[in-house]
Amino acid sequence: MAYPDMFAELKPPRAKPRVMMHAIDSGSRGPTDVIALFECSKCGHKSDWLICANWTEMERGEPCPKCNARTDGGSGNG
Ligand SMILES: [Zn+2]
Repeated sequence: MAYPDMFAELKPPRAKPRVMMHAIDSGSRGPTDVIALFECSKCGHKSDWLICANWTEMERGEPCPKCNARTDGGSGNG
């Protein structure tokens, strides 16, 4: 008996954002809303106050829109 092809169509691995912004300030706007300011330690980009689903999401960080926007140009000073 042959096994069914459960993973016949594997999705190609997606490139995850490499540069993550970390929360530099946080607060709550209500019983559930978590808001946080994020800053990129690489380029210094600061986000606006973003609403996170929960504290875990906030601590995980947000991908930097600037650093992750540029395509790979090889290693070098940035
Ligand atoms: Zn950045």
